[in-house]
Amino acid sequence: MRSLQSEIEQRGTRIFELVNQHPESLFSRAGFYQRMMALSMRDEQFKAQLFRFVDVLPSLHRSGEIVEHLEEYFADLRDGFAPLVHTGVRLARIVPWVSGRVLRWNISGMARQFIAGKNPHDVMKALRKRRGQKIGFTVDLLGEAVVSETETDEYAARCLDLLETLARETRGWTDPLGRNSELFPVVNLSVKISALYSQINPADPANAIAHLAPKLRPILRRARELGAFINFDMESYAHKNTTLELFKKIFTEEEFKDWPHAGIVIQAYLRDSEADLRDLIDWGRARGTRFAVRLVKGAYWDYETIKSRQNGWDCPVYFQKPESDVNFETLTRILFENGSIVTGAFGSHNVRSIAHAQALADELGIDPSRFEFQLLYGMAGPIKGALVEMGYRVREYCPVGELLPGMSYLVRRLLENTSNEGFLRAKFAENVSEQELLRDPCELLRKSRNGVLPRSNNATTNAMKDRHPSHSRSLDTPPGDTYENAPLTNFVHQENQDKMRKALSEMRTRLGKEYPLVINGEKVFTGKTIASINPSSPDDVVGAVAEAGIAEAERAVRAARDAFEKWRWTPFEERAQLLERAAAIIERRRFELSALEVFEVGKPWTEADGDIREAIDFCLFYAQQMRRIGRPRLTQNVPGEESYYHYWPRGVAFVVAPWNFPLAILGGMMTAALVTGNTVIMKPAEQSAVCGAMLMEILEEAGVPPGVLNYLPGKGSVMGAHLVDHKDVDLIAFTGSREVGLRIWESAGITRPGQRELKRVICEMGGKNAVIIDSDADLDEAIVDCTYSAFGYQGQKCSALSRLILLQENYDRVMERLLKAAASVRVGNPEEPGVTVGPVIDETAYNRILNYIEIGKSEATLAYQREDVPPKGFFIPPTIFTNVKPNMRIAREEIFGPVISVLKVRDLDEAIAVANGTDYALTAGFFSRSPANIERAKAQIEAGNVYINRSCTGAVVGRHPFGGFKMSGGGTKAGGADYLLQFLVPRVVTENVTRHGFAPEETPQYRDEFLWPTAR
Ligand SMILES: Cc1cc2nc3c(=O)[nH]c(=O)nc-3n(C[C@H](O)[C@H](O)[C@H](O)COP(=O)(O)OP(=O)(O)OC[C@H]3O[C@@H](n4cnc5c(N)ncnc54)[C@H](O)[C@@H]3O)c2cc1C
Repeated sequence: MRSLQSEIEQRGTRIFELVNQHPESLFSRAGFYQRMMALSMRDEQFKAQLFRFVDVLPSLHRSGEIVEHLEEYFADLRDGFAPLVHTGVRLARIVPWVSGRVLRWNISGMARQFIAGKNPHDVMKALRKRRGQKIGFTVDLLGEAVVSETETDEYAARCLDLLETLARETRGWTDPLGRNSELFPVVNLSVKISALYSQINPADPANAIAHLAPKLRPILRRARELGAFINFDMESYAHKNTTLELFKKIFTEEEFKDWPHAGIVIQAYLRDSEADLRDLIDWGRARGTRFAVRLVKGAYWDYETIKSRQNGWDCPVYFQKPESDVNFETLTRILFENGSIVTGAFGSHNVRSIAHAQALADELGIDPSRFEFQLLYGMAGPIKGALVEMGYRVREYCPVGELLPGMSYLVRRLLENTSNEGFLRAKFAENVSEQELLRDPCELLRKSRNGVLPRSNNATTNAMKDRHPSHSRSLDTPPGDTYENAPLTNFVHQENQDKMRKALSEMRTRLGKEYPLVINGEKVFTGKTIASINPSSPDDVVGAVAEAGIAEAERAVRAARDAFEKWRWTPFEERAQLLERAAAIIERRRFELSALEVFEVGKPWTEADGDIREAIDFCLFYAQQMRRIGRPRLTQNVPGEESYYHYWPRGVAFVVAPWNFPLAILGGMMTAALVTGNTVIMKPAEQSAVCGAMLMEILEEAGVPPGVLNYLPGKGSVMGAHLVDHKDVDLIAFTGSREVGLRIWESAGITRPGQRELKRVICEMGGKNAVIIDSDADLDEAIVDCTYSAFGYQGQKCSALSRLILLQENYDRVMERLLKAAASVRVGNPEEPGVTVGPVIDETAYNRILNYIEIGKSEATLAYQREDVPPKGFFIPPTIFTNVKPNMRIAREEIFGPVISVLKVRDLDEAIAVANGTDYALTAGFFSRSPANIERAKAQIEAGNVYINRSCTGAVVGRHPFGGFKMSGGGTKAGGADYLLQFLVPRVVTENVTRHGFAPEETPQYRDEFLWPTAR
């Protein structure tokens, strides 16, 4: 008996023979597309620019715009085809109308290559043609990313319409193989789950399923009546578990339990895929009705690797291509071995993967008519033909839709076709030998493990493998490059959802406790307390903290002053280690602290987790930074003299924090002060005083010496003001409102009798952040990101979007989608996973924001206000005002709530002028696909943090050092390389080391000896 490998080779060779009888290059059509692909494979820069250009083109309406973009995208290209492009651009300038049309026509041609038709009627032409070639179909409706429930309803309606048309138009069509045809209905529809609910949140699959199931049932019902098959496509990893759960749930329902014409996709590039497939098969057996699985490798490899790297998550996909190939073969076997309950469909263009399935089916005695091969429309035509000729069942995946929504699909296909790792490129563009293409992927893996194969030339793979070792301590590399952030919690995993639920229920039992002040290491109760309440349920007291008055403030200053004398001489390495121990404790208590934030400040799950992550990052980043700047460093290499630049701490720091990032901001300012050798009096906001107490507990457990950190909640106007003015307080680190910040700034400028130092004020205040949406922006992204930037955490981030500036050219298009998106965001108690908008912090904020809404109603037009907010708790309805003018109060004053003021402008000049025409300069955003406009926004928008094509909230320590200027703050950058310098005084010691004309030849780069004198 021949081995499986030789069977595979034999079948593979046969496929190649048949393919070679109908030679076709990689792409079915020659011409423009062909040339573009060839250039893309030669030059990565061209490829990136081409794909971006393809992406923006459908949103360009005027020929002049097309020509401008063409120039912007391709003008800087280096070599090869640069002259070609330049000639094109010159020509286009002369006859823009003609050139714009020609380009659009050509790019549309590229899209038409992969899109089978514009609408259900249109697609029938392609399907009939395939029928003649004995190729079946599954149809997929292309759509924009849905951003609202109105859009999901439209998608569902289109699915129903498509089903009707297909059923009507294919009446009388029969199965091409004529055997086992009951397993393979003619009409086959592929649906995308994410297009049926706009608020899918990985943390809350139950909510998603509750919304998805009612949308799906009518489609399934109708499909069943029409004898059609429904397949659930698989999208990004974030949606995977929800899609699987939904599939199992809905097809276990009485109505669909015995319906065999349902299928789902399994992606072999996922490490979880074998477990998922086995679980599905167990489910299928328990259900007792046949179902189908389309096995693919997976279309989101780049996205998954980038996303997981950005968030510090374990990457869900394999890093090496042969790993995905091996897994595809493993899963093929599992499918065949369970053929009694599951029908396999193999979605691949890779002849090795296909030949393996054929050979294995033979080995296991499976009739070829009991499974099928599926291939994409517009790709690998000769392979389809070969498979039909060999007697296999072939189905083509046919996308239907307009050009604009089709762009992301087109870009995915272009990526796939030009991928260095892909089979199609190897076979059809690079003519890799057949023998090579049919090699056993296990063998390739073994070789790669032994280092025989060259490393992948995929930049992302290499970057994944080259991750810096944790929290690298190199002193010579720029800090942003060496710091690796703490990961966010990935709530896609059920285990994390369970941990959070458990933490919430445990925290609930601990609410209402009392917490003392901590002064000089002693716990102090004062007889007076501040109650911290749950903003979702104001009758619930989260905890009560002792309230400090003037007397306690005086004690705290003395304690901090005394402790300073020792702490300042403590080696910075010890201080850095204290922060690292604190980070480890926060990590250990991560879910507990997140749960506390949900109750105390109304943070949704992911926001709370983000705050915890940031607190950890501040500890670790500042520890690393202190090591970087702590050692006295030689200023210049001059013979005969040594000068060392170094830093001393300032003294006693008074840290005053807001409630909106209760651990991160308080912890960030406090740890920066500690690690630099200052002692600290830490005043949390009254509304988040329990979080502050936790932070104190954490630092105590980490080993902070008595007096070095003192915990002092109390009234800002009383003990806070007293400490700001205190002669023994050397530094004030404040984050909060402009009003209080300016008062501190002014008061700290007065020198009091007995004061040693000029007080240093580190001041972070508010913002009136603007986002501009350019006329060519990707609205799928812009709407989602703007909605989140404005309404996420109820608009209570200093970085939140508050002024949305729209160009008149796309005003209507944006507003139409924005209003619907606002109507779709989830508002509710943040104990529920997946809620976006919870309650605002307290009654004062509630009344203030409502007051601003009234002002808005009198100044501008109320375009939207949500109605269904919970009656109890401080819930403010997400609100949007239009017809806002720059001088109106709602366009100038910080509201700090879920309210957007929309300003319409003529053009980008006016947009930038309006964005900059505010007292503040904290964050700003710009959505555009014009490289020239992007550069302009980078250069001209006045804000401390300017974000392009992404949300304007969510700064990450080290990556996005955060803070503004003008009335937003003193230009400090929390989480940046310069931040610690503000907590320090620089000092230089210079020694003449020449004795009678002789000086040592070498001067050390660093000298530590005098930092920690032994005689103290
Ligand atoms: C009919 C059909 C339906 C499809 N439906 C879906 C769907 O619902 N969901 C979905 O996600 N995809 C779907 N796909 C797309 C499919 O995932 C890709 O077309 C497929 O991955 C290309 O694989 P291949 O076997 O044809 O080519 P190959 O060239 O053999 O494989 C390319 C694939 O290998 C994987 N890969 C590339 N580089 C690496 C690496 N460094 N490490 C590990 N793996 C790597 C990627 O998955 C890449 O797409 C479908 C494809 C077809 C044909």
